[in-house]
Amino acid sequence: MINLKLNNSIEMPILGLGVYKITDKKELENAVRFAIEAGYRKFDTAQFYNNEKELGEAIRKTGIKREEVFITTKIWNTKQGYNSTRKSFEESLEKLNMDYVDLLLIHWPGQNKDRYLDTYRALENICQSKKAKSIGLSNFEIKHLKDIFAHCNIAPTVNQIERHPNLARNELVNFCKKHNMVVEAWSPLGRGKLFDNEVIIDIAKKYNKTPAQIILRWNIESGISVIPKSVNKNRIEENIDVFDFNLDKNDIERINSLENGDRIGSDPLVFDF
Ligand code: NAD
Repeated sequence: MINLKLNNSIEMPILGLGVYKITDKKELENAVRFAIEAGYRKFDTAQFYNNEKELGEAIRKTGIKREEVFITTKIWNTKQGYNSTRKSFEESLEKLNMDYVDLLLIHWPGQNKDRYLDTYRALENICQSKKAKSIGLSNFEIKHLKDIFAHCNIAPTVNQIERHPNLARNELVNFCKKHNMVVEAWSPLGRGKLFDNEVIIDIAKKYNKTPAQIILRWNIESGISVIPKSVNKNRIEENIDVFDFNLDKNDIERINSLENGDRIGSDPLVFDF
């Protein structure tokens, strides 16, 4: 596993397990156990996923020490604002049954600048209290990031954004890198929609890897963190088996050519709540 150094010197595994939509207790427990056994040390949840309690329990059940795993959660849209962010974060810690999270993100910016700035101030307060070791953002576009940088006291460490070969977001990725933020790709597999793409299949054959592994590797080789989701043991193992090969420059360019702007989620420049 490769670790990425965040701008506060904390190390974060480049690959983790996303747990969106895994709400069945037993299914989550199994997925977390398969993941720990396969070498995963990062888990990505959110208040919105309604599984923080189950994730905390599943991690404890594996017997792994708290300090050996990296836990991310996110403040949900309806909880934004200074006081409600702090309150909802305490609830998240209680559900996780943990003293701290490794990374706390604002899930979506929305279009209300004062609201996301207030929310970020709460994250800074939480970070100072050491209950979140690192803080960051999710779905923030350059416009939103500029607002944060103009007002923050603690620099955001991570921007978690939708990214897969159909939506590479190069301008945003470069902006984040220039400002010392790690980019983390959500739906890094494009929820499977590129698995039958001819270019991906052709490249997968060449390296004797699966389409999922090629797409994950494409992210990793750009220094981008990935959090693929699966509950299936074989797929969980397959998705972490991506550290024993390098893509040729030409193949990276072929994958880059699949950009077509297709999104899975909402456009953060217009999405509001
Ligand atoms: P993903 O790109 O990880 O794709 C998941 C789908 O691909 C699942 O249906 C899974 O069964 C399938 N899959 C996984 N590995 C496979 C393999 N090796 N072979 C074949 N199929 C495979 O999509 P996602 O779940 O949307 O994103 C991953 C994580 O990102 C989420 O679980 C969540 O933690 C995070 N996320 C964050 C946001 C945000 O707004 N910040 C939004 C969506 C997701």
